[in-house]
Amino acid sequence: PARRVETFGTTIFTEINNLAQQYNALNLGQGKPDFDAPGDVVGEMVKALQAGKYNQYAPGPGTPSLRKAVADHAARFYNLDIDPARGVIVTAGATEGVLSAVLGLVDPGDEVIVIEPFYDSYVPDIIMANARPVYVPLHPPTWTLDPDELRAAFSPRTRALLLNTPHNPSGRVFSREELTFIAELCIEHDVTVISDEVYEHLLFGSAQHIPIATLPGMFERTVTVSSSGKSFNATGWKVGWVYGHPDLLEGVARAHQFVTFAVHHPAQEAVAYALGLPDSYYQEFQAMYQAKLALLTDALDSSGLQYRVPEGTYFVMVNYARVFEGTPLEFTHHLIKEIGVACIPPESFYSQEHVAIVQGYARLSFCKNDDTLRQVKERLVKLQ
Ligand code: PMP
Ligand code: GLN
Repeated sequence: PARRVETFGTTIFTEINNLAQQYNALNLGQGKPDFDAPGDVVGEMVKALQAGKYNQYAPGPGTPSLRKAVADHAARFYNLDIDPARGVIVTAGATEGVLSAVLGLVDPGDEVIVIEPFYDSYVPDIIMANARPVYVPLHPPTWTLDPDELRAAFSPRTRALLLNTPHNPSGRVFSREELTFIAELCIEHDVTVISDEVYEHLLFGSAQHIPIATLPGMFERTVTVSSSGKSFNATGWKVGWVYGHPDLLEGVARAHQFVTFAVHHPAQEAVAYALGLPDSYYQEFQAMYQAKLALLTDALDSSGLQYRVPEGTYFVMVNYARVFEGTPLEFTHHLIKEIGVACIPPESFYSQEHVAIVQGYARLSFCKNDDTLRQVKERLVKLQ
């Protein structure tokens, strides 16, 4: 392998899936629903496959239908004015969206601020762009930033900040005050924000998702990334997008041309339909997940694991200190092998310098059948 990829191991998701299967554990590891995408959305994909006109290359930046749907969705939910022709690029999932944004907007040698814990593809993306990650941790148990630490992370070399809200794995949804603090620093230091908002519709209680692009002075310095995987329970489709000011999207588009060129064509027709579903779809989607969250917290309440109720995403970070002594990876092995439940140890969401912060924590995902979540309760009782 090249030196560029020398430090990349097998992703933790593959490793844990293998182990969960081997021990027949209920898999609350990877954020991957174990139920199907909505029937009508799947039906639109089937129709597109059979229409006789969507089985060849799609336009490189995405189909006009999906680019319009992304712009309409941003107008409907966030009152943002996006140009479908020059302000949207359809990508192979949010994963390619973040990569193409980093490759298209960051120069070799630049610094990119990454908030920890981070989604595990961000740092490899920065390394593949020959840039340098600069880490700023969220502090448990509240998973909040230390303002001084964030301020100190900015330097004359800072080119971009990678933000994720609602946040995987903490379940935080950043408040207007937190986002304003981040935004003011980015404006002061002339920094671009790459904002990963794939969990934009996964909100609980009174939590409200605020795209940082909607804050004063931020639209012209933000690219926003999202995906159909989470909002339509279709993680296998890998249709995502990046939207924002055309001047920034130009960079993303140039990289995207030579990363994938174009994305699965029939799926774009189906995702354009899905994004346009009425508000009732999005309300029922949230209600379904609110009920799943209640099933998981009910299971946790009789387990001895401590947690904070997430504001968004389909993840809960649990603290296992009362029931187990050891590292998160050791706890994960114990949970899979002795209890029959798989989780994700969060070490791979941290740099070496900060990994001690997450000692005592593990991530559970609740995008699972209600029956699976009820069985989890029966098993977690054994932890006590
Ligand atoms: N960003 C975050 C924060 C995620 O949790 C995920 C996980 N699916 C992704 C990006 C990747 O999204 P996609 O499957 O659309 O590439
Ligand atoms: N985003 C999902 C998670 O965090 C899936 C990640 C993946 O499979 N790469 O679990």
